[in-house]
Amino acid sequence: MLTRRQFSQLLIGSPLLSSSRFSRAASAAPVSPAQDMGAALSQSRDLLIKGGTVIDPSQNLHAQLDVAVKDGKILQIAPDIPADGSRSVISAKGKIVTPGLIDVHVHIFEGVGPTGVNADQYCLGRGVTTAVDAGSAGYFSIAGFRQYVIKPSATRVYAMVDIGARGTLMGLVGNYSNLDWVNPQLTARAAEANKPDVVAIKARLSKEITGANDLEVLKRALEAATISNLPLMVHVGDSYSPLPEILRQLRKGDVLTHCYTGRPHGPLDASGKILPEMLDCRARGVLFDVGDGGPHLSLDVAEKCLQQNFLPDTIGTDLGGLSYNGPVYDLVTELSKFLLLGLSIDQVIERVTLRPTRMFNFGAELGTLRPGTVADITILEVREGSFVFGDSTGKKRTGRQKLQSVAAIRAGKTYINRSDDV
Ligand SMILES: [Zn+2]
Repeated sequence: MLTRRQFSQLLIGSPLLSSSRFSRAASAAPVSPAQDMGAALSQSRDLLIKGGTVIDPSQNLHAQLDVAVKDGKILQIAPDIPADGSRSVISAKGKIVTPGLIDVHVHIFEGVGPTGVNADQYCLGRGVTTAVDAGSAGYFSIAGFRQYVIKPSATRVYAMVDIGARGTLMGLVGNYSNLDWVNPQLTARAAEANKPDVVAIKARLSKEITGANDLEVLKRALEAATISNLPLMVHVGDSYSPLPEILRQLRKGDVLTHCYTGRPHGPLDASGKILPEMLDCRARGVLFDVGDGGPHLSLDVAEKCLQQNFLPDTIGTDLGGLSYNGPVYDLVTELSKFLLLGLSIDQVIERVTLRPTRMFNFGAELGTLRPGTVADITILEVREGSFVFGDSTGKKRTGRQKLQSVAAIRAGKTYINRSDDV
């Protein structure tokens, strides 16, 4: 039996993964198309994915279907599309084919502060075609994030702007202790200037970050979000103020992340019941993201919330420098954790395809395999066995299934998941 840590060490220690070739180029290298380019001119499909089980919640699909791609877009979904006339054919027999997975919470400002990891290695290389960086940049570094991460990445990348000028450049401790650097006007201006790449404002309301300023930081973040007409994502867990004081101020469309935190001021009352303010928030359209991260998910809390039918709206990972080597690893491992916690495969796929498109305006139709939309596709394998999933409190659960990304197709180009080779 492979533990999570051993599994990660295999991935990290793999020559394929540790080489700069993988992290920069090979993870993003398209599969060679058929050699006969002359024939391609008369061929009607660039790519055909055959024989997989298509799960696309945006179209209520869960069936064995083929998916055809042409000119970077979905051409057709139908049973038994003939392979003739396709430049490239991938057999997905026994595998799951989904819209390209969307992780709404990652930290990929690589080389800037302690939180950033490489987008293509940890996102596209693990089946994630679209990733949203959750406030690694503040107003004075978001243009750099766009230049050095969004533009060169093969992964489709969007960003939130942190309400603190520094973002995660100098770590998080004390980030909002000087309110001179928490400026709603400058944050809103930076967000506006970098749309449509910027999709939200971010505020982190843990007391080691805010000191006693959390409600003032929240007020300024809401102001920046209002000026720039964007949602606000709020990080909670061990806040200075009780959680209900924060929840009461969130608006329809705002997002609370770390919704299953086990730290003080979490989502449950002393008897283990969901706080009424959490239910009020959901009723008025506030959205809830997992954001497992380092210390941000307790399996016990998640279980209690799920037992009370409080499911997350999105399963964002909070993948970054503090979580890529556990307990998060990558999005497909996080999804496997939620299969173990009792969600169905359709429910987890919906929370990383359709639901993120309702959370953020990506300026393009993503999260669907509807013909005519951009061909972002993920091919997954379900491995059966004994897999240990943990949280930061040291709690462990053993699951029988683990999702593994086999390939990601981004705008019609195929990227093979090389970690499968180890
Ligand atoms: Zn985060």
